[in-house]
Amino acid sequence: MSGEQRVVVVTGASRGIGKAVVQAYAREGALITLVATREQSLHQVCAEFGLSQERVLCVAADVSQVADCQNAVQQTLARWGRVDVLVNNAGIYHAAPFLQHSPQDFQRLLDVNLFGVMHFMQACLPSMQSRRSGAIINIASTAGKWGSRNQSAYNTSKHAVVGLTRCVALEASAHQVTVNAICPGFVQTDMVDELKNQAAQAAGASVDEFVKAMLARVPLGRLMQPAEIAAMAVYLGSADARGITGQSLHIDGGMVL
Ligand code: NAP
Repeated sequence: MSGEQRVVVVTGASRGIGKAVVQAYAREGALITLVATREQSLHQVCAEFGLSQERVLCVAADVSQVADCQNAVQQTLARWGRVDVLVNNAGIYHAAPFLQHSPQDFQRLLDVNLFGVMHFMQACLPSMQSRRSGAIINIASTAGKWGSRNQSAYNTSKHAVVGLTRCVALEASAHQVTVNAICPGFVQTDMVDELKNQAAQAAGASVDEFVKAMLARVPLGRLMQPAEIAAMAVYLGSADARGITGQSLHIDGGMVL
């Protein structure tokens, strides 16, 4: 991973945290595969950051579909010959009281938030392991570390990502590949706007009341910014972080202490 440009795959690259990860790795000079469900939105991100076609590959994929994930990684390997860093960031949110969650709600949250991570790791690991080099960063959540009201499917999916990260880190360590999770708290993105509305409704509160209670749970008293999560993703993908594996690191303003 030293010297040459790193090859980085970022899922959920069209908005929010994933878009900030693209921007941060672009500043590092990386070659980047951007993944989201709509290719056009990825080209817009590249245009916004002034990224030339030589440095990027935009691949439409639904991360819940194994063939889409394999295709995105195969295209990256065909173009640049390797994947140095995988950032599994794509995710969805849903809020409802547990008794109103359907099996389909649980299935969809797990399909995207858990199986998407699994599919991309299984697609990237063989070549990383044979090169004895690579870093995987899974964007989990503080929701993967504690219980929350009215988001049992989301929290279950994120607990599973934290557990999967630990297990895969153990197996990949034999091949010098690191696997870590980042657990953000509340980050200013479309998802947190959706969360405010859905979670307030599920709790029977106004959005203002919910936001006040939400921020009261954050010792630093503010939302995190996507760039703060992206900076950690760049660090975990760097040579300086080669000794860190199996961890789930919080960037949450002190929510989980
Ligand atoms: P966001 O603004 O809603 O963006 C979600 C991204 O995921 C978009 O790029 C979306 O792309 C992509 N995506 C969703 N479903 C997909 C699918 N089936 N296949 C491919 N791409 C898909 O969310 P965010 O806040 O940046 O969240 C990013 C990650 O951080 C998620 O895993 C989330 O759970 C986690 N997280 C967020 C927060 C927070 O407060 N925001 C806190 C903790 C953890 P398209 O819709 O364009 O396909």
